[in-house]
Amino acid sequence: MNASTHPSSTLRPADLSLHSSAIQQPSASACLSGVQLGYGKQTVLRDLSWQLLPGQVVGLLGRNGAGKTTLLETLLGLREPQAGRVELFGQAALQIDDAARARIGYVPQQSDLFEGFTPAQLLAYFRSFYPRWNEAKVEGLLSRWDIARDKPIAKLSGGQQQRLSIIRALAHEPDLLVLDEPVASLDPAGRRDFLRELVEQVLDRGTTVVFSTHILSDLERVAFNLAFMSEGRISCQAPLDELIEQLRSVQGSTAQLQSMVSRLGAEVLRRHALENGQARWLIRLPLDAPPLAQTEGLQALNLEDLFMELT
Ligand code: ADP
Repeated sequence: MNASTHPSSTLRPADLSLHSSAIQQPSASACLSGVQLGYGKQTVLRDLSWQLLPGQVVGLLGRNGAGKTTLLETLLGLREPQAGRVELFGQAALQIDDAARARIGYVPQQSDLFEGFTPAQLLAYFRSFYPRWNEAKVEGLLSRWDIARDKPIAKLSGGQQQRLSIIRALAHEPDLLVLDEPVASLDPAGRRDFLRELVEQVLDRGTTVVFSTHILSDLERVAFNLAFMSEGRISCQAPLDELIEQLRSVQGSTAQLQSMVSRLGAEVLRRHALENGQARWLIRLPLDAPPLAQTEGLQALNLEDLFMELT
């Protein structure tokens, strides 16, 4: 289906037909290029390009309604973009084969957990689909996270249901783990346990992880890379420590700022006009910026500042 016959995005069922396609970027776990997707007249993803490389742990940040869920669903081949290309493990995302699908773990914002089942029944059901399934991990997490194996899922709390959804996504040891606001309904202790589990996954297996969150302290704990989403695109992605080291806010006349930026070889990420011909710019210093850069009225930013500036 092309853009002219496809007025709005369709939510695709997970069981898509089997098909293999030319491998374009064999090294990337996921690769989006020039992706355009809207609902009716509203454009949500605008010519968006993004890559997740093996072993990357990426926190996806954006304001409410920025399009994070839409982006993650598109990345997983659950939504069909109106233009552009999406690949998972080198295959067209809308048509990945069973082997590639088995390498993906997904925790949606709202899990569809078959509420009539018990956790034991649910996990037994999913186990039948996957060639790889780590029963010891499942049992360990059920006990540690205090989830009754034989209670109907409908009677579990929201936090327990979310943990169960996470266990389900981790059980087959995916190579790519996609989590949409995974810790939203967990309490602080639950978040800490979950994040520890996530880090273990990453350290043990080199799993590629992407998760959206608005809880900035979660990112400081586990996200080695941050991706900021704004105006339908990934506006900036870099390791957190690099962002803290390289991004600066600076204020002055446009001429002064221009001259400083040229001298430092910096990149301008945002321009804010202020009163009286003054401006405030967000700049990115080159990795080899001279020490002088620390003393020129350049203001360092914390994670909260970065969120405000980049999303
Ligand atoms: P986020 O996850 O960043 O909060 P979403 O991807 O959920 O953003 O939504 C992006 C925008 O698209 C919002 O304005 C939302 O209202 C709209 N939107 C999301 N899903 C649908 C849908 N199925 N139909 C129509 N509009 C939608």
